[in-house]
Amino acid sequence: MQLPGGIIADGQRRQDYAFRPLTGHVELALGESSGWSLPQQVTRALVAALAHVGGRAADSELVAHLAVADRQFLVRQLSARLNPHPTWLTCACGRCEGQFDIAVREAELPCKPAGPGYPEMDLPELGVRVRVPTGADQEQVVDLDDAEAARQLFALLVRPLGPARRRSRPRSAALEQAVEAAIEAMAPEAATELEAQCPECGASQRVGLSPYLCLQRSAEAVLDQVHALASAYHWSEESILALTLERRFAYLRRIERARGLYGAEPRTA
Ligand SMILES: [Zn+2]
Repeated sequence: MQLPGGIIADGQRRQDYAFRPLTGHVELALGESSGWSLPQQVTRALVAALAHVGGRAADSELVAHLAVADRQFLVRQLSARLNPHPTWLTCACGRCEGQFDIAVREAELPCKPAGPGYPEMDLPELGVRVRVPTGADQEQVVDLDDAEAARQLFALLVRPLGPARRRSRPRSAALEQAVEAAIEAMAPEAATELEAQCPECGASQRVGLSPYLCLQRSAEAVLDQVHALASAYHWSEESILALTLERRFAYLRRIERARGLYGAEPRTA
């Protein structure tokens, strides 16, 4: 599947990307959230996981400047690579208030593709150029309250047309509406809701769906595995984290097997 938005490289829109083989570094980047804002965490995880986007090296500069929906799409694809089974979510029913579980296949969730003009569009009648928001924009406003964040985002996404006009256009209701409509038309979108039916009362409802489910993983499991491998083989943390998932689990199985063969606890009768 291609990116719903993509990047412009040498005047061409490119929607291709590739992940690297999965390693412990990727899992750790997903699981370690302390001290990072959500947009920074997404950038870290994707930089660790991606080989390229549109033929360009997926460094933090490029990843931060991907459209928000591209980042959400990539986090979901990554989640599906880490866990090929469906993700189970617990929902509270809006009618009977009972709880029920739904299975979500993250890689198959729908995305609205980018519209004509993506990633930026001129609105000549209003004298501005508008672009779609990126991870870098989210990062700029992450600590602000909603009203201030909206103001800042507007300043980031809307530029006056023409070199002579240095001051940005004052916000008016008409300008805001036109900007919102332009972004809505251009920007790709990842699904953040899905239709579910409560098995108890049968009520159909829309349930919210975070695009960043796999950022809720904990790093504990990876650290436990690093500990097990380091204890057994005396390898460095760095070299264990660089192993692919398959290789790491292959060695963990051998440690388990050796324990079963030689290291069983002596049983006292
Ligand atoms: Zn119900």
